Amino acid sequence: YNGGRCSLIHHNGYRFDQGPSLYLMPKIFEERFQDLGEDIHHHIDLLKCPSNYTVHFHDGKQFELTTDLSKLCRSLEKYEGNNESTLMNFYKFLNESHIHYERSVKVVLKTNFQHWYNFFNIKHIPTVLKLHLHNSVYTRACKYFKSEYMRMAFTFQTMYMGMSPYDGLGAYNLLQYTEISEGIWYPKGGFNKVLQSLESIAVEKYGAKFNYNCDVQEIIIDGKGMAKGIKLKNGNVVNSDIVICNADLVYAYNKLLPKTPYAKKLDKCKLTSSSISFYWSMNQIIPQIAVHNVF
Ligand SMILES: Cc1cc2nc3c(=O)[nH]c(=O)nc-3n(C[C@H](O)[C@H](O)[C@H](O)COP(=O)(O)OP(=O)(O)OC[C@H]3O[C@@H](n4cnc5c(N)ncnc54)[C@H](O)[C@@H]3O)c2cc1C
Repeated sequence: YNGGRCSLIHHNGYRFDQGPSLYLMPKIFEERFQDLGEDIHHHIDLLKCPSNYTVHFHDGKQFELTTDLSKLCRSLEKYEGNNESTLMNFYKFLNESHIHYERSVKVVLKTNFQHWYNFFNIKHIPTVLKLHLHNSVYTRACKYFKSEYMRMAFTFQTMYMGMSPYDGLGAYNLLQYTEISEGIWYPKGGFNKVLQSLESIAVEKYGAKFNYNCDVQEIIIDGKGMAKGIKLKNGNVVNSDIVICNADLVYAYNKLLPKTPYAKKLDKCKLTSSSISFYWSMNQIIPQIAVHNVF
């Protein structure tokens, strides 16, 4: 089956999304479908969550994060005070996180770093200087929000990537920007619908073939260090011009590629935290909780 961390669980007539529940950065998804000559809206029915999430604080207080700016600002005032500076500071925060978003997409997401020295390209310097890589996400939030509640509400998002807001680089507040400006979406039929659509386009339009249920044991590397194929667990060898490996980095370096000192070094790295998921089906609507809740 397709999907990996984004696959489905079927149990007792219920369907559960195994991993993702926040569809963010819709433009990036649109562009990937455009790359395939398709309009995403012909494949996926996207529903905008009426509210992004409700943050439930330790003392029972709540904060609703929404793309409705007037509603959001009224909620903000409860924590930051009903004065001019509250809104001004919030807009300054949005301005900064917008710059982080735009520049990171351009210079990081859409740039191929083939060699380590590509990172040090002189033309990237003005961009990198604007990303606040010397500050943490939390430090940036402290500049714009004075209440601890709002500092928490506008920084916890680094946990999506297993990071603490006290360590995550300032640029990562781009997540808050995309949530506030573009919203959180839900693909009707579950997140796996995106992958099913990509698979059908690949098969029907481009003649791709997917081989499921065959574990890769090794990526075969030639004498010049180039990947030239894969060896499957059943012993079959598949030669190819290109090998694209999307398994976890530390695992791939240690289990699929020839052992190197770099792989050993990676193996010793402290990994970010994972998650524990409970898949519950409800026989009633629970009005006290929103679509997404953060405690
Ligand atoms: C609980 C949870 C919640 C999440 N929530 C969100 C969210 O709200 N929003 C969001 O954008 N993202 C979210 N994510 C992250 C998102 O699910 C992943 O980033 C995304 O699914 C990764 O896709 P991938 O194809 O890169 O990797 P994977 O899904 O990890 O796919 C890698 C595939 O490679 C296969 N593979 C590995 N080794 C081998 C081998 N030796 N032989 C054959 N096959 C192999 C694996 O079986 C797997 O199918 C969440 C993840 C989790 C776990």
